[in-house]
Amino acid sequence: MKQYIVIGLGNFGASVAKTLVDKGYNVLAIDKNKEKVQELANTVTHAVEADATDEEVLKTLGVRNFDLAVVSIGNNIHANVLTTLLLKELGVSYVIVKAQDNLHGNLLSKVGADRIIYPERDMGVRIAHNLISSNVMDYLEFSPNYSIIELPVTASMVGKNLAELKIGSQYNVNLVAIKRKGEINISVRNDISFSSGDIMVVFGSNNDLKELQNSI
Ligand code: ATP
Repeated sequence: MKQYIVIGLGNFGASVAKTLVDKGYNVLAIDKNKEKVQELANTVTHAVEADATDEEVLKTLGVRNFDLAVVSIGNNIHANVLTTLLLKELGVSYVIVKAQDNLHGNLLSKVGADRIIYPERDMGVRIAHNLISSNVMDYLEFSPNYSIIELPVTASMVGKNLAELKIGSQYNVNLVAIKRKGEINISVRNDISFSSGDIMVVFGSNNDLKELQNSI
């Protein structure tokens, strides 16, 4: 069973900690603020009030026995970077850290962070994509040039199957799943015909996806 540490229980950290617990993992949650610790005390495996920039505290908590740590201290860059450095020096194998901007992210990679995330920026990009492309329901950037998008089928597609519509070959994209009435079908076959209300989950390069969006 994997053991996780979440440090900094603001909105983001608390939400990460709760989700890991829901998925059945053990979570040690740390914050220097008593109220934040109390809010999660009954949810996570252990909730501890401690300053994560104190090396002795981290040693006493046995952080080196954990597989993965998420550092979600936000506004205090000093505490965020110092905590990351200490976790790596104490031997936590994978440390994921929330960064405020690219420069902060660079600094984190220099002190050994294994993965740097920019939750606010990424959510902003995602929401903006949903807003600009009126037919895109959801958007997930896979790499700078590739994404997954959700597109509702249009009236002209209803009743036709994939072989007839040739979406994959015509636009050079991959239809990975179809959402229908809340169910997700991931074995997409050529003879499945679309119904009104179906949502296509499509993977491809951003250029090809744009072409598809503009054409259907
Ligand atoms: P969010 O957007 O996720 O709500 P935020 O980006 O505004 O959070 P902060 O509120 O600055 O981030 O920090 C998140 C949490 O980290 C706070 O609950 C804060 O008490 C905690 N924290 C800050 N410094 C330390 C530290 N040295 N040790 C432990 N916890 C800390």
